[in-house]
Amino acid sequence: MACTPKRQPLSIEIEQHSIYRHNLQIYNIPPSGDIKFEELLKWCVDRLRVLTIVEQISSQYRTRSTKKYVPILISELENNGMHDFANLVSTDNSQRRTKHLIRNDCTSHFMLRSAFSFENTHRRWFFTQETKLFKWRLSLLSADDTKRFMDMNGLQFSAISQEEKQEIQEDLRTCYAEIKDVEKTTFYKVHFTSVMKPVRKRQIFLKDGIAYVPETKLFWLILAEFKEILNQSFAGAREIVSYTYDERIRKILTLPEHVNTQKRNYGKYREVFANELDELSRISYPLCMKVLHEALRTKHHLTNGGRVQYGLYLKGIGLSLDNAIKFWKDELTKTVDERTFHKEYQYYIKHFYGQIGRCADYDPFPCSKIFNSTIGVRDDHGCPYKRMESHVLQNTLSKCGLVRSDIDAIVQHSKEGHYLEACKIYYEATNNSMIEKTFDHPNVYFAHSLRKIEIVCSGTFYNSTCTF
Ligand code: SF4
Repeated sequence: MACTPKRQPLSIEIEQHSIYRHNLQIYNIPPSGDIKFEELLKWCVDRLRVLTIVEQISSQYRTRSTKKYVPILISELENNGMHDFANLVSTDNSQRRTKHLIRNDCTSHFMLRSAFSFENTHRRWFFTQETKLFKWRLSLLSADDTKRFMDMNGLQFSAISQEEKQEIQEDLRTCYAEIKDVEKTTFYKVHFTSVMKPVRKRQIFLKDGIAYVPETKLFWLILAEFKEILNQSFAGAREIVSYTYDERIRKILTLPEHVNTQKRNYGKYREVFANELDELSRISYPLCMKVLHEALRTKHHLTNGGRVQYGLYLKGIGLSLDNAIKFWKDELTKTVDERTFHKEYQYYIKHFYGQIGRCADYDPFPCSKIFNSTIGVRDDHGCPYKRMESHVLQNTLSKCGLVRSDIDAIVQHSKEGHYLEACKIYYEATNNSMIEKTFDHPNVYFAHSLRKIEIVCSGTFYNSTCTF
């Protein structure tokens, strides 16, 4: 996008470039040419609305298949009068009539990329929503269309030779049991850091730091490429508009201020201490965290997924780093010696709190992330309404002291996949109070409960004698 002198026509035209022959864009070729400002502004505002809708959908709906987000997106776009974008997302790629929509999509993406490139929180928000949108749209492509998309964007991945495949054939068969004919399937190899999500979910065959990706999972590689391009582009996108004094462009650059890109406030209420956790878990914990707390207390151990889910939650509810180390140490050293604790566990606790490693400020997991946890037989993490068999859930709720009618209602909602509704009933039963909305984050659940309890108890710290 060229920087233009004041009051001259804006120089952003997307002409008949071959790349605009595909509905889906990887956005690696910036537009150039002339455009009316009003038109550009409208496209950018519309795209912001689309990204906000994407954010809302991903926090409200959980589905195992990425594909299932697309009909929800289309219906939300239609409901909000965004017919052009709905049309672009839903139209088959062979239909040429979408060319002007592709231009709008591409131009607004590049313009907002620049607008969101200045601040960390803005960048992160834009990156997250654009990646989801791309992923959802990518999931719609057929195998042929995916191939066409790759050719048009010059995406080439390194396929392994037949000899190499021969050597690891058994491993590939074990790891990708769903692939009927491994011999006829092409596998691509990339460094494991390019496909971290499937690596974390143990969905990919890894050897010596190399990930082997079957052709049926090519979208992992395309998505990695999209993220790489977007991530690398922010510095250049910022540079392009930094020296623009055209007030019209500056107006577009202020658009991020109209979106709430801030990190979620989990409603932390006050500092909590290690010796309060047993009592707090009784009433103020959602069931997912209560299960983890009790598993830790009885087994003196949690698998990695449980330690991460519970450790970040504890950080979020206000347990300080010192208190966290004390709490985990007291419990884990009942089964491991102190040296092992310091070597294997303390590092990770400090990591959660951003004290070492990347020093990142990790957020506690929202329900949507907990729903999608990978769960093994030895694990206690995840959402109990989703992962527990009905009879196990019944038993667990009964031990929590819930009455039969509440237990039945929770089990029924769980069976139907209404986990947040089940969680709401659990809250109402354990807190003895009705709430209007469901929670979508365990830390918000906790803060809501604790705040209510301490207000009821007239500002004094509650204890087991406090009744409601
Ligand atoms: S719905 Fe959310 S807060 Fe409730 S138990 Fe499941 S993961 Fe935890």
